[in-house]
Amino acid sequence: MYKATIGIEVHAQIKTATKMFCGCKVEFLAEPNTNICPICMGEPGVLPHVNKRAVELAVRTAIALHAKINLKSIYARKNYFYPDLPKGYQITQSIPLAEGGYVEIETEKGKKKIYITRLHIEEDAGKLFHTTEGHSLVDFNRSGVPLMEIVSEPVIENEKEAVAYLRRLRQILRYVGSSDADMEKGQFRCEPNISVSKDEKRGVKREVKNLNSLKAVERAIKYEISKQTDSLEKGESITQQTMLWDEKKQMALPMREKEGVTEYRYFKEPDLIPLLLNNDIIEEQSKAIPELPTEKFNRLREEYKIKGEDAEILVDSPEMAEFFEKAIKSGCSSKYAIGWMTTDILGELNKSGKSFGDIKIAPNHLARLNKMIENKTINMNIAKKILHNILFTGEATEAYIKRNNLSQVTDEGEIEKAVVAVIEENSKEVERYKGGEEKLFGFFVGQVMKKMKGKANPGVVNRLLKEKLNRR
Ligand SMILES: [Zn+2]
Repeated sequence: MYKATIGIEVHAQIKTATKMFCGCKVEFLAEPNTNICPICMGEPGVLPHVNKRAVELAVRTAIALHAKINLKSIYARKNYFYPDLPKGYQITQSIPLAEGGYVEIETEKGKKKIYITRLHIEEDAGKLFHTTEGHSLVDFNRSGVPLMEIVSEPVIENEKEAVAYLRRLRQILRYVGSSDADMEKGQFRCEPNISVSKDEKRGVKREVKNLNSLKAVERAIKYEISKQTDSLEKGESITQQTMLWDEKKQMALPMREKEGVTEYRYFKEPDLIPLLLNNDIIEEQSKAIPELPTEKFNRLREEYKIKGEDAEILVDSPEMAEFFEKAIKSGCSSKYAIGWMTTDILGELNKSGKSFGDIKIAPNHLARLNKMIENKTINMNIAKKILHNILFTGEATEAYIKRNNLSQVTDEGEIEKAVVAVIEENSKEVERYKGGEEKLFGFFVGQVMKKMKGKANPGVVNRLLKEKLNRR
């Protein structure tokens, strides 16, 4: 039995208005090379100064990850030569801001803690663009943008756990407000390292870069595990390599040697004194932490008896979770609320390409629909139809029902007429039904509903149909 061992390095952009060591603006898609200054361009004689807000947000994140915060951390220079690095070194930390901690995830085998090795602050490099004519252009707007590097212990066993960990970590950063963690904007970059071995000793690890979505992370890890397992089965040895994920080919390919092998030289950053923290800042940042994703997940499941996958949808979208809880407070059952939200509302959003913020209905609309089903004004099908139609208008449910004449018909005489007509019009099906094809019952229900434009009380339809059919 081969076993995979995975560790993940995440670089998350800290949500600040300005860069880590200078006052330049942090702005996505700004005109290239406009948010730069002598400090982030590494001109001689300049001195970096630390962005306090970035430190506060990193501290807040570390607390949310249950990590131990080092009251004294040390800045260091990581020296290497690359065109996107004007200074010739990147400022990082040799003694990290925080160590230890964990993220709890749900796995098929239950809850699991993914342990964190360290969290440190560093600055981002610039960005290279390679043109089709073979030129390379560099934009230094990103040079010096604050990052948190969060390194996990190699305790992840497969691609599913990796994605669950990254999803939860991303939620934590968003909940505490330390990063928008938008992967498409490069604000949350993941580099998993994967090794496969037959015994307890860890095999040769390979790092995969260039992953722009959680789907890509999942596919790349799965690919690398099966590739390495194949090699070991054939008795081949695995070489330590940095791989680049090719989304089009769905393959991880080795990075060109020149890019992959970099000799880093570290030494203490002489221009920055150690970062000293006191307990006040830790206490202050603790207070800024809201209910965290894992706590919310456990509470939603417990309090409203909803399924794990449904709770996960709500945890991923705090605004949906708030809507859900308000709907219940205004009188909707949690069963109806979660069903309508995860199938009908999300379905409609996916179809229209809109987001949850675009819906115009209030939580109270769900409570009204629930009430009307209870007092038999409408049935579930009509309720869903109404929901789909008022989602982006916010029209009151009662007004919509009145305007479209959708009130449920419970009058037995009227339903009976439809039942009798359906039985007469479908004599062949009636014969088959009597001959034992009981599943045809649904067909009769459908026909009666169709005749009554979906407004018949389903309980009455079922009862009358059974009576009439059995009497035949
Ligand atoms: Zn600058």
